[in-house]
Amino acid sequence: MYIKEIEFVNFKSFGKRIKIPFFEGFTTISGPNGSGKSNIIDGILFALGLSSSRTMRAEKLTDLIFTDAKSKSPEFAQVTITFDNTDRKAPVEADSFEISRKIKQTKTGYYSYFYFNGKSVSLTEVHELLGKAGVTPEGYNVVMQGDVSQITAKMSPVERRKIIDEIAGVSEFDEKKQKSLAELDIVKEQIEKIDIIIEEVK
Ligand code: ATP
Repeated sequence: MYIKEIEFVNFKSFGKRIKIPFFEGFTTISGPNGSGKSNIIDGILFALGLSSSRTMRAEKLTDLIFTDAKSKSPEFAQVTITFDNTDRKAPVEADSFEISRKIKQTKTGYYSYFYFNGKSVSLTEVHELLGKAGVTPEGYNVVMQGDVSQITAKMSPVERRKIIDEIAGVSEFDEKKQKSLAELDIVKEQIEKIDIIIEEVK
């Protein structure tokens, strides 16, 4: 599974509608300072609801709506991410699917909506779907500026190992193993109790 395309509508520096294609494996985006490269990452965090653990560069969500001194600000911003799913990593029976988020400014605040293939869904549903494909808010699917030096220079070996386990998918099995061992303990206890009862009945 990989991101095939991102569409921005009035998002940060992307006024109006703009589509950016991505390719399987590797896509590099280059441009002068301030041209909007990092805003693309912010768009991914925003649309996939990953921004709770990774910080978007905006004080409030409404700062994400395009503003321009020359014209009236639009009332909404929207980012749509199209995933290629030909490998069926996500539990969707289609070669591609879309996740989208829209933020709408109102007089008193804002509304935020998530969509899956154009149908309104909750953030939990988005997380559940992405989680099955290994994309989680706590994961390192999106590596931000500063993450690399944090991982290589500032973390302890144990913390670093945790991240490597997470990326390799090992931590998922560790959790399952711990859960199974806890269940096994309960079963052992029950067997001991039953053995005592059997002894008493004899
Ligand atoms: P650098 O290489 O310096 O990190 P960059 O290419 O990553 O730059 P970004 O940081 O993504 O660029 O983009 C910053 C630009 O986005 C700034 O020019 C800023 O004015 C603009 N910008 C941010 N929010 C908005 C907004 N809501 N409306 C319009 N422009 C915005």
